[in-house]
Amino acid sequence: MEKFKAIINNQEIESNSWLDIMDPTTDEVYAQVSALSAQEIDSAFKAAKAAQKNWEAIGIEKRIEFLTRWRDLMLKNEEDLATTMMHEIAKAYKDCLTEVRRTAEYIDLTISEYNDLQVLTFDKNSKGINEDIIAEYKRIAKGVGVGISPFNYPINLAVSKLAPGLLTGNTFVFKPATQGSIVGIKIGQLAIEAGIPAGVLNVVTGRGREIGDVIVTNPLIDFISFTGSVPVGRRLMEISSSKDLVLELGGKDAAILLDDHNLENIAKDIVAGAFSYSGQRCTAIKRVITTNDIADKLTPLIKAEVAKLTVGLPSENPIITPMIDKKSADFVTDLINDAIKKGATLVYGGSRDKNLLQPTLLDNVTVEMNVAWEEPFGPVLPIIRINEIENMINIANKSNFGLQTSVYSKDVDLAYKVAEQLEVGTVNINRRTQRGPDVLPFLGVKDSGFGVQGIKETILSTTRYRGIIIKK
Ligand code: NAD
Repeated sequence: MEKFKAIINNQEIESNSWLDIMDPTTDEVYAQVSALSAQEIDSAFKAAKAAQKNWEAIGIEKRIEFLTRWRDLMLKNEEDLATTMMHEIAKAYKDCLTEVRRTAEYIDLTISEYNDLQVLTFDKNSKGINEDIIAEYKRIAKGVGVGISPFNYPINLAVSKLAPGLLTGNTFVFKPATQGSIVGIKIGQLAIEAGIPAGVLNVVTGRGREIGDVIVTNPLIDFISFTGSVPVGRRLMEISSSKDLVLELGGKDAAILLDDHNLENIAKDIVAGAFSYSGQRCTAIKRVITTNDIADKLTPLIKAEVAKLTVGLPSENPIITPMIDKKSADFVTDLINDAIKKGATLVYGGSRDKNLLQPTLLDNVTVEMNVAWEEPFGPVLPIIRINEIENMINIANKSNFGLQTSVYSKDVDLAYKVAEQLEVGTVNINRRTQRGPDVLPFLGVKDSGFGVQGIKETILSTTRYRGIIIKK
């Protein structure tokens, strides 16, 4: 059994306990990672704290060099990273490769966005200043960050926290999701190979529910960036030792169709938005809201697209692969069964082989059904028939989540007016819900999150102003 050791202070940790990493495709143990103790985690924070001042002092040019080498090594090792990811999270191999490449691009963009960052300067000629002073406001590192990432984009969602934060001079204790831990350790190993000094990036592993509290309550934390589910995000808000939090949580993104224009293409867009990586994406379309008349035409078109979805093993590069674990697959099965029991129409799918669920389309879903409100994080799409735009907006806004929405209409002005009434971070008009391009701010409201991600936004959230004012 291959074992992967956590990294603290650029040392592999000889821990006594091990955590099984499953292969969701076979449901068998694939490898093991260190299950760290509270004491070991504390030593990761001490290492991060001890390294931070020097890491900041070496200057931006040096840090850009280190990050560029790290990026190059990720690309050089893209096949190994993608293969590991494919086993750990059952994502199609080609999508794993795309993720590694997108992450490398993310680092490039981070460097260029940082270079655009302006230092604010003021003097007696500036508006509102009547003293003879020179004031300079520069952004500096906050200090020691915690990065906690979810399973579904284990490289991209980790590096999107780490790269901006490291570039700006912070050090990190990084905790990958259990499924995703090996790839997390591997990017830590590549950071060492890139020459990133000891203590700057520490990768701690262990089961989140066992070591999570220990991580987020450490007194040395200056800020936390978390991506994951709502219950864990809530717990973090309650107990963490830092109030400086960015939380990117779940979603129940709706696709709202206002008219029947271009339905064939919209059906394609909705199916791509709902089912890629088996719907295990925060911005997956998780409900369709439209009128009875439009649904009569739309449902068969969506069904035809769902029927084309490829289903199989991650190595075969299908769209639908096994879900991350049995518990998650059971949850989706329960949602489907509850909806059918309460009168929903099963239009397509519904069957299951272990963790592999057929893509499932449900029509005539009503507000009494759990699938109308819960985030399935799996391959099921409910269609909710609602007449009148005002009622559609109300149902969309009734969700506790507020990540994104798509509004489809040939009347962009009308869609814009609807967009202004939706309680979400971002509305996409005539475009499926999605994260990216990465330079855009990315945020959720209500239960979907707190704070903003995106390249520039993460540079801002991992830094603070330091003002120096000189009286002449
Ligand atoms: P999860 O909440 O189960 O786990 C996320 C991370 O938190 C993992 O690293 C896990 O080990 C850790 N964790 C678990 N318990 C913890 C605790 N008590 N304290 C601290 N950390 C703890 O989520 P998941 O199943 O990995 O990911 C799926 C969820 O993530 C979905 O709800 C999805 O919508 C959300 N997500 C959101 C975004 C976004 O940007 N909004 C992106 C991707 C995924």
